[in-house]
Amino acid sequence: MLLHASDTHFSNFINGKLLPAASGDYLPVYNPAIGEVYAYAPASDSNDVAHAVTAAKAAFGAWANLPLDRRAAYLIKMADLIEEHLEQFALAESEDNGKPLSLARSVDIPRAAANFRFFGTALLHFSSEAHYTEGMGINYTLRRPIGVVGCISPWNLPLYLFTWKIAPALAAGNCVVAKPSEITPRTAFLLSEIAQKAQLPPGVLNIVHGYGTKVGQAIVEHPQIKAISFTGGTRTGAEIARTAAPMFKKLSLELGGKNPSIIFADCDFDKAVATTVRSSFTNQGEICLCGSRILVEKSIYQKFKNAFIEQVKALNVADPLNETTNLGAIVSAEHLQKVLSYIQLAKTEGGTILCGGEQLHLTDRCKNGWFLSPTVIEGLPHDCRTNQEEIFGPVVTIMPFDTDQQALDYANSTEYGLAANIWTQNLDRAHKMANLLAFGIVWVNCWMMRDLRTPFGGVKSSGVGREGGWEALRFFTEPKNVLISYKI
Ligand code: NAD
Repeated sequence: MLLHASDTHFSNFINGKLLPAASGDYLPVYNPAIGEVYAYAPASDSNDVAHAVTAAKAAFGAWANLPLDRRAAYLIKMADLIEEHLEQFALAESEDNGKPLSLARSVDIPRAAANFRFFGTALLHFSSEAHYTEGMGINYTLRRPIGVVGCISPWNLPLYLFTWKIAPALAAGNCVVAKPSEITPRTAFLLSEIAQKAQLPPGVLNIVHGYGTKVGQAIVEHPQIKAISFTGGTRTGAEIARTAAPMFKKLSLELGGKNPSIIFADCDFDKAVATTVRSSFTNQGEICLCGSRILVEKSIYQKFKNAFIEQVKALNVADPLNETTNLGAIVSAEHLQKVLSYIQLAKTEGGTILCGGEQLHLTDRCKNGWFLSPTVIEGLPHDCRTNQEEIFGPVVTIMPFDTDQQALDYANSTEYGLAANIWTQNLDRAHKMANLLAFGIVWVNCWMMRDLRTPFGGVKSSGVGREGGWEALRFFTEPKNVLISYKI
């Protein structure tokens, strides 16, 4: 049992110590399933960030020069400790975010541990290039850590995405100032204690809680923080880029999406239906990779629609702690209102609600929680606002298409380009579509299957840069070319 798991007042983690915000202020943290404040996180500001940067700078030299196997051992220890406390982390994540406990237990927390283990071992194999130049000599590329880096993450996969940044940053030899979402700070708080248990040297990892406009902004503005890895909304990403660009910081931005699921008539029908239900509504549709525009070839449109709706109606929206729950609570009252406003917009744009569309009022301990029935809308043109803007909730549209070209045009018509999934048994079509879809990730006959070595990220307004594998270790290092001149 982690010591602080039941604390109602979370702490920052700076220089190896659990501390309140310098101001002494706290912000409320809600349990979305019951709609009540259940804890408080430090409402930090630029003073706490400055403190964290000082600690990180002091720790940097020793951490960067640690033998690789010792750095690896720390990260692997972090992975082991997360796994040891998996149940406690899963419960904390579910209570904080509203997601089903079963999902936190099977996806979020195992993946957080995997992030540390993956990068803890990857760092042992990371190498750089050498270029022999005839008549000149040999160039080799040194890759050194950057120094102090900032990691800022969102609320939808709290520990999963937080560690997806922190692990490669540490693996590459940097010291980190990290900020979790103020909406879901609990597992980041628990991670502080994991870092203590792993005896991570003080200052190597610092976690500062608080609002984006204060702590996030202070991290982005701090002149000693040389790189920012950010995952969140496109508008926030643009704000960060505006601030960071004149300071010439390295930026990795993983932003919003409006992903298509493209179903061709020759698909494996049952698998396509079942997976599209998952890709639409897993984690209440609050995954950047969820498909939210379902494009179905006209000849099977009615059949697919009927089968899909039947399975969506069978989804169980209930207390996240129940083992049979498919959809838990929406993360906040504000987000629920945003999602509901898009359902209203869809109606004014001429859409027909095929199922769902309403806030659900559960009973007992969840009677004041923020629940929404999974919603499917049809009858909308591909270029209306409902089909162009990110909703980020359990709301999808479904529409028919006639030809491959039309499917492609619809799919590529938004400003976003994160992930697409396509369903066909035709190999030629699969390759052609994968090539022409303007997305950073394309899944064929599957969804959200991840190999952590592969590049992860989006194009257009879905982001800049890639995470995962060597891409992440390259982002968190600075290359330096060295030429040794010699003549044979
Ligand atoms: P958000 O942009 O509101 O917040 C993300 C983080 O940024 C939070 O920690 C927040 O406090 C911080 N922040 C806010 N303003 C800031 C500022 N001015 N400077 C620095 N930091 C600031 O996003 P959210 O609502 O938490 O998350 C949902 C969004 O994240 C969706 O758009 C979703 O698509 C996106 N997302 C993208 C990916 C991906 O990999 N591309 C993954 C998950 C979520």
